[in-house]
Parts: sequence; C-alpha cells; structure tokens
Amino acid sequence: MAASPTRDDFDHYMTPNYSPQKAIPVRGEGSRLWDQAGKEYVDFAGGIAVNALGHCHPALVNALTTQANKVWHLSNVYTSEPTLELARELVERTFADKAYFCSSGGEANEAAFKLARRWAYDNFGEKKHKIISFKQAFHGRTLFTVSVGGQPKYSEGFGPIPGGIVHADFNDLESVRALIDDETCAVVVEPIQGEGGVTPATQAFIQGLRALCDEHQALLVFDEVQSGVGRSGKLYAYMHYGVTPDILTTAKALGGGFPIGGMLTTDRVAPSLAVGTHGSTYGGNPLACAVGLAALTTIDTPEVLEGVKRRHELFREHFEVINRKHGVFKEIRGMGLLIGAEMSDAYHGKARDILPLALEQGLMILVAGPNVLRVAPSLIIPEADIQEGMARLELAIEQLVAQAS
Ligand SMILES: *Cc1c(COP(=O)(O)O)cnc(C)c1O
Repeated sequence: MAASPTRDDFDHYMTPNYSPQKAIPVRGEGSRLWDQAGKEYVDFAGGIAVNALGHCHPALVNALTTQANKVWHLSNVYTSEPTLELARELVERTFADKAYFCSSGGEANEAAFKLARRWAYDNFGEKKHKIISFKQAFHGRTLFTVSVGGQPKYSEGFGPIPGGIVHADFNDLESVRALIDDETCAVVVEPIQGEGGVTPATQAFIQGLRALCDEHQALLVFDEVQSGVGRSGKLYAYMHYGVTPDILTTAKALGGGFPIGGMLTTDRVAPSLAVGTHGSTYGGNPLACAVGLAALTTIDTPEVLEGVKRRHELFREHFEVINRKHGVFKEIRGMGLLIGAEMSDAYHGKARDILPLALEQGLMILVAGPNVLRVAPSLIIPEADIQEGMARLELAIEQLVAQAS
C-alpha cells in the first residue's frame, strides 16, 4: 500500500493556485476535526461558510446514503424527485416562483447574469445590457463572474474580459445613481459582502437599490451564495431588509458540504431562460438535491435560526473580551454566523498571520481579505466549542502580539 499523502504532495501534484495550511484533516464530527496525526481542531471555518450543519450531520449523511442507493445522476433529459422537491421547498420558503440548479456559487451567478442580460434583450433589445456591481464584491471565478466582481486582482491577466460592466461603491447609493440608466439590465449585490471583508449593506442602501432598479426597469440580483441558508440568522439575508430581489443566487450552505448551487427568480423573469438558453450537466443532480433538501429543511426552523442569533452574540462578546486585553481589532461586524473582525491599525494587513498560529493552537479560522479575520462556523456549533475555540484564538493572538513587540 502506498504511504499516506503528505502536504508536500500538494506542491508536487497540484497546480499552485492555492497554498493550504500544513495540517491535513482526515475526519470531522460536528464542529471538531482531526488531522492525520490525530490532533484535534475546533472548526470556525466551516469549509468557508459551507458546512452549515457541521461535519457528518446525521440528517445529511442519511440523505446522501439513502439517495446513493437509489439513483446518482440522470442529466436534464430526465428529472428527479429530489430536484423537484428541493425546487418546491425553495419556492415555498422564499420570494421566488422558479428555481434553477447548478453545482457552485460561481455557476449560479453566471446563470443569474446571463438571465438578466437575456431578459433585458427579450424585453427591451440588446442595448440594455449594462451590469452595475460593487467594488470589493466577490461573485465567483468564471471569467464573467470575476469581471462582475469588484476585485481587479482576480481578473488581471485574463483579458479581454466581458464588457458592459461598471462598479459603484458599496453602501453608497449616490454612486449607483450616477451610473444607472435605461441601458442598465441589472444591479448585482451581496447583502453582506463576504470575501470583501464581511460588510453588511445598510437598510437605506438596499431599499434605494430596489427603487433605482424599478425606476430604470433593471433587475435587482442578490448574491446570497455566502449570506444565504440561515447564515445571517434568517433563511436568506434579504428577509432582514424586507426588500425582494428579482434574482437570488444560493450555494455554499445549501449543500452543507455537497456541491450545489441554485438560482431563484420570479415568473416575470424566468421565461427568458427558455428551453436551450442555458444549462448544466450536473444541475439538479439527485445526490446534491437530496442533501440540499435535508440541509434546507433542517436549517430553516425557528430553533436553528434563533440559535444563530444567540451564537452571534456569544462570538461578539468573546471577540470584545479579547480585544479589551490585546487591542488587535478595530471593529467587529457581520450578521448571524458570518462575523468579521477588522484588524486595528497596529496590525493592519496581518489577519492571515493568525491562521498558522491558530492552527498550532487547534483552531481553524478564516480571513476575508488581508485585514479581516472571519468566522463562518456551523450554524449549530455547540456553545462549548465556541468557548474552546475562542480560548484557542486568544492564545494565537497572544503569540501575534508577542511576535510584533
Ligand atoms: C463563494 C462565493 C461565490 C462563489 O462560489 P463558488 O462555489 O466558489 O463558485 C460567489 N459569491 C459569493 C458571495 C461567495 O461568497
């Protein structure tokens, strides 16, 4: 038998577009993980806001293994029961009338942006194609989605990039008003900017975007790939704002760790995605949809969503206690279990330095850009794991402070 793979194998066999941490987790349960050496970790990373029910949740394991013994894949020449059940649940629980499935957040956004363009083309002609999005936004890694995204480093060197895309300032309605016109087909926004630094949109901004879109007959697209499926403390973050989009994209937590993406829309817009206009081989895959259905119905309950709000407060208190002692953070922000801690000026740009220190202490945690430490754990992380993880974080931060002095 060949020896177990090591971290060095990554550098030997994988393209160099990632630089993973040293430990290789081999097993997880709830919000704890164990690596090859048996060392245990508290998981505040949640597979980057994906494992919303922790690792190996019985409802998800059961959904996956039950479906694995029935049928794995059919393509879209045929449909499946899990596909239709998940679509029905999403429609019944949201603003949407129709659902489209794919395998990732980037693909969901690709579908959303194509649908917005096609809807405008069908109803107003090809001049109405302008997309307005926001600086610091993140919408995925396909060429269209990095172009709509507001972080130039992700599209640099991949040109020529698709045209007709302009970027306004997040939470600045006037900057949108200056760009929007009757040739705008869509305004695309994350209700909480995730990768860009965990920044929630203000109520006035979201309401104002809806009004501007209505005024110019443009579609409002919410990218809820990170903020959706309970992460914010409601099923979708738009529900906090009382503002309904025309298109919403969802992925990450929807599969609880199994790859799935979805796009939700209304009967006004959906007809432009007519037969043959768009598709995906894996879209609506029965395994993915069976797991998605279990994740959605387990998460969208008052107990789980109320628990998210309680855990938010607990995290915030811990962060503030650490900060009173060490002064490493400028601001703690976010919604539900998507929380960002922006580094103080003395530690500017040093968020990533915390990751290996935390790993050493037995904690997996995330950053959102160079200056924000991010937690996006399981929505049902036990409160004892929050205590333990934050104690380990404090030890890591003591080391960061010691290194700096
Ligand atoms: C993660 C993310 C995406 C991309 O999702 P993938 O599954 O990596 O393609 C898109 N939008 C937002 C807001 C995200 O957080």
